[in-house]
Amino acid sequence: MANEKRITDLFLKLVSFDSESYHEQEIGSYLTAKLKALGLQVDIRHTTEKAYLKSHPDSYPNIYACLKGTLPGTILFSAHLDTVSPGQGKKARITRDGFITSEGDTVLGADDISGLVAIIEALSMIRESKAQHPDLEILFTVSEEPFCEGSHYFNYDLLHADIGYVLDLTGEIGTAALRAPAILTFKAVVCGKASHAGFAPEEGINALKAAADAITHIKTGRIDSHTTVNIGTIVGGTANNIVPDLVTLTGEIRSTDHERALMKAREIGKILTDYTVKSKVELKYDVTEHIKAYQISPKDAVTERFKRACRKASIREATVTTFGGSDANRFNEAGIATIVTACGMERVHSTGEYTYIKDLVRSAELTFQLMTIQDSFKTSIE
Ligand SMILES: [Zn+2]
Repeated sequence: MANEKRITDLFLKLVSFDSESYHEQEIGSYLTAKLKALGLQVDIRHTTEKAYLKSHPDSYPNIYACLKGTLPGTILFSAHLDTVSPGQGKKARITRDGFITSEGDTVLGADDISGLVAIIEALSMIRESKAQHPDLEILFTVSEEPFCEGSHYFNYDLLHADIGYVLDLTGEIGTAALRAPAILTFKAVVCGKASHAGFAPEEGINALKAAADAITHIKTGRIDSHTTVNIGTIVGGTANNIVPDLVTLTGEIRSTDHERALMKAREIGKILTDYTVKSKVELKYDVTEHIKAYQISPKDAVTERFKRACRKASIREATVTTFGGSDANRFNEAGIATIVTACGMERVHSTGEYTYIKDLVRSAELTFQLMTIQDSFKTSIE
């Protein structure tokens, strides 16, 4: 049985660390020691590209740990160490009925402390019950929030898993996302010509007007059931009496269909080109592909195992599509069929973030089932 007090204590302990992205040292070393104490082989030395650690000295390496089992197969369980900001000086507030929030001036960090706690508790339950299990691989990643950067620099040679679970989703315990989007960002720099707005407006070319003209022709919001587009920032101009010569606009594209995301990026590039040519300004347009979309079949071994674990833990299961990216995108790209599962976090990325102790307990019990039920693994990524 999951131990409610142990779960609550660990949750509060992890909340007490400041662990915004690129600042995961304290929480990282605490959990490294915890995994070792639970009898796992832990590696932080060969997990992360040196260049990443060098450019982020207050970050921590990705934590990889392994627990050998007696059942066939290998399963990956992952959660991330970092939180979004404002996440410094987090303090948890618990009501009598087990509702946990921050004090209102920071996030709580349940994203993704809830996931970390469920994995640690399930490992504690295995140690106590001596339950049989397959080889278990644990991966706690750093800087997941900025487009899964930590897992980008992870050494994938270490992983042997057939299937994986990333505990990093909102919604009722028992919810799993089988499909997640590609996320692309774009940046357009529009160059016109500066001139005095009063003395010589004829000599200037207004980059801001050219950019605005193009933007009105770019469709934003939900484009179709698979795809969203947003223009997020526009910066430019220097003074009211100067015709602006430089404007930068940035935005993002998400689509659960990877090709569609790429197509949309090309389409936006074409609109920007057409309207900047028309306005006689120059354009520099760059697209960055951050993560790739994935789709797991409801019949895949990773999904079947999840459903069976839910039944054993008396939890109702539901499969969904998410419009958020996670480390699961990377693991699927690396060839490990992985789904993201809900672990007790709501209103994430806001100071109103909250969780319930009873959800943390249910999530730990479900994770224990995922780790220990007997199953065979045959898997394919669509
Ligand atoms: Zn998260």
